[in-house]
Amino acid sequence: MPTESQSPYLPFGENNNADWYGKDILSVKQFNRADLEYIFGVAHEMRGMVERVGTFDLLKGKILANLFYEPSTRTASSFMAAMQRLGGSVIAINEVKYSSVSKGESLPDTIRTLESYTDVIVLRHPEVGSAAIAAKAAKKPVINAGDGVGEHPTQALLDLFTIFEELGTGKVDGLTITLLGDLKYGRTVHSLARLLTLFDVQLNYVSPDILPMPKEVMDEVAAKNIPQAEYDSLDKVLPNTDVLYVTRVQKERFENPAEYDKVKGAFVVDPEIMKAAKKEMIVMHPMPRVGEISPEFDDDPRAAYFRQMEYGLYVRMALLAMVLGKA
Ligand code: ASP
Repeated sequence: MPTESQSPYLPFGENNNADWYGKDILSVKQFNRADLEYIFGVAHEMRGMVERVGTFDLLKGKILANLFYEPSTRTASSFMAAMQRLGGSVIAINEVKYSSVSKGESLPDTIRTLESYTDVIVLRHPEVGSAAIAAKAAKKPVINAGDGVGEHPTQALLDLFTIFEELGTGKVDGLTITLLGDLKYGRTVHSLARLLTLFDVQLNYVSPDILPMPKEVMDEVAAKNIPQAEYDSLDKVLPNTDVLYVTRVQKERFENPAEYDKVKGAFVVDPEIMKAAKKEMIVMHPMPRVGEISPEFDDDPRAAYFRQMEYGLYVRMALLAMVLGKA
């Protein structure tokens, strides 16, 4: 459980926060380092407030539409909790089969409908680019909560906030970050690799050979002169890794179930394997896990994946407050 401390980020107001009011959050490509310092500064304050008072009235009277066309546990419930902890309320549509979507309503029409009733829309959708389509249709801010295999920007922000909070804010430059698992279909690693190009890091990609990091993402990383390397096993990179980011093989993206069966158990992180890792490092996972990290590792202090979920609440509180002009 993270504990409160003095904010290591810039104090409120040192960055240009007026820019966030009414903005969509669609891709990590829209952020620079100053933005991150600002977001994490606000998130850090949110953490302090939750620890002190639990719920407060910053967004009293505001309503969030939480529109989920794909399953979600953490993203959906943390956005709901974030809105409620800020005193706002939520219209949650996570069973689109009970909405007019099942009658054939288009995404832009559904978005226009929801923005008539609410102040901000969080959208998860199976198609790449869907959040951008929604944002074009909407006058109110749209937050991308995962667009197919595309991006998951709020996850990448909470991942980076986790790294900052766990390893120290000044320390991201110089870190070796190893992304493990399904790098082809995992949208969280697409966003995280892009976001990390704002820092001087070494990126390692370890995946089954049929699930590599997409060329598009690797080209973007290369264009920022960030060193990156691909491996088919953890052995070589684990001893130097500061952050091991483990992902699930994304079963729902496979057309052929036999292909999934071939790679599903390819990598398993367990206490034995972790003997080769540093003492001061962290293991992260966006969750859900389906066997890639053995529960026997959960009590190891390096296992940061449950703390990571909690950091997500604070980052999402910060983002909601910012796009609604209250931070
Ligand atoms: N929860 C994450 C996502 O929505 C990771 C995953 O599903 O594997 O992308």
